[in-house]
Amino acid sequence: MHKSTSISDLLTTLAIYFSLAGVFGFLIGFPFAVLFICALGLLGWHYRQVLKMNEWLWHRKSFIPPQGQGSWASIFDGVYRIQLNNRKKRNELKELIRRFREGAEALPDAAIVMDNNLNILWCNKLSQLFLGLRWPHDKGQRIDNLLRHPDFVRYIHSNDFNNPLEQASPLNDEVILEYRVMPYGAQQLMLIARDITQVKQLEQMRKDFVANVSHELRTPLTVLQGYLEMFDESLIPEQPMWGKAHQMMTEQTHRMDSLVTQLLSLSRIEASSQQEFEEVVDVPAMLNLIKTEAATLNADKAHTLSFNIDASLIVYGMKDELRSAMSNLIFNAVQYTPASGLIEITWALKNNSAYFAVNDNGEGIPAEHLPRITERFYRLDRARSRKTGGSGLGLSIVKHALSRHNSHLEINSEVGKGSTFYFTLPNNLTVSKQEKVAG
Ligand code: ADP
Repeated sequence: MHKSTSISDLLTTLAIYFSLAGVFGFLIGFPFAVLFICALGLLGWHYRQVLKMNEWLWHRKSFIPPQGQGSWASIFDGVYRIQLNNRKKRNELKELIRRFREGAEALPDAAIVMDNNLNILWCNKLSQLFLGLRWPHDKGQRIDNLLRHPDFVRYIHSNDFNNPLEQASPLNDEVILEYRVMPYGAQQLMLIARDITQVKQLEQMRKDFVANVSHELRTPLTVLQGYLEMFDESLIPEQPMWGKAHQMMTEQTHRMDSLVTQLLSLSRIEASSQQEFEEVVDVPAMLNLIKTEAATLNADKAHTLSFNIDASLIVYGMKDELRSAMSNLIFNAVQYTPASGLIEITWALKNNSAYFAVNDNGEGIPAEHLPRITERFYRLDRARSRKTGGSGLGLSIVKHALSRHNSHLEINSEVGKGSTFYFTLPNNLTVSKQEKVAG
């Protein structure tokens, strides 16, 4: 391979060429004519090299350049070197893409790469199986032209991909898919569809099991409670143990009854998938009822209960679920705030949205418990919670009830100072003044 030609090489060769021509012309007596003919010859030779290069670049299939001459040899070799580098890079890139595709094919999910305009750039085999796409036939097609379910179209256009979308496969209603979209490369999106049918079935089995067991426990519990209540003090045998046993049995059946009631209420909330916001819920009236119940609960602790309620603020929602959420938060504050504590309940309009808060100056919750506190059966102090009759299901019910209203529970708590449990309902659930007048 030649090395690159320098300007001094070129000038030296040119000087030698014209000097020889000049000497020869001088010897035969026609120096200018000979110089002119030699210049023409040089020009012709250069044109020949240009044509050779053109022929090689445009018309020859061969990757190896023709043999260049003189200074042109290094130009031919330079072009050849650039081509060689490009070919190497292309091969590396091809290998990379091949490995990526193999990896994506090995995924247990459907994977589709799209550009920013949702045109399909590539999809794997499972996307053909799960979603009915055809490769390479559908290359360049818009994904929303091929998957036309309104929920999917809304999701893919929403640009909010924090949460996945669950939906039946377009090919088989019994297969449930979970769609996720993530940015991919500079201007691309990757859509992943995962088969979650089994997970859903297991989840449903768990829900059904809990609902059935709770339901089945109801009858024996009612019978037990009934008989225990029938036992008149006079019927209890004299021995001191019997009195204690009767009291314990009554307490524990009440505890079990409230556990079963809460489990059933949680199952009911989970089972009702339909979100209906047509019912107008008179929250102020509802809070007035809860207020009476809260005052009787732990009356001996002499709490100060302060209700700051916007009496005109009513919302769309599911009455039972909102009642469950609010009463659980208020009763918790009553349960977990020591005697003479202050509990403030707020129901007000904040930034055009309905805002509910329960603030207490009780013991507070250590920060490490907060992320898990809404899990089922999660309690800070099992012994204390058992004493108060707590099951660890209350906040779980609140969480589910709020999620059905597109809202979520927030907690601020400081140990020794107290806690605030609050939530905001989306502003489209607030009943406007005009609607109230019309109603
Ligand atoms: P439980 O039926 O035990 O009250 P919850 O799910 O309602 O179950 O509450 C879970 C745990 O959170 C409770 O065991 C309690 O320790 C803690 N907790 C709930 N509300 C409060 C509060 N206002 N102040 C302090 N701790 C609370």
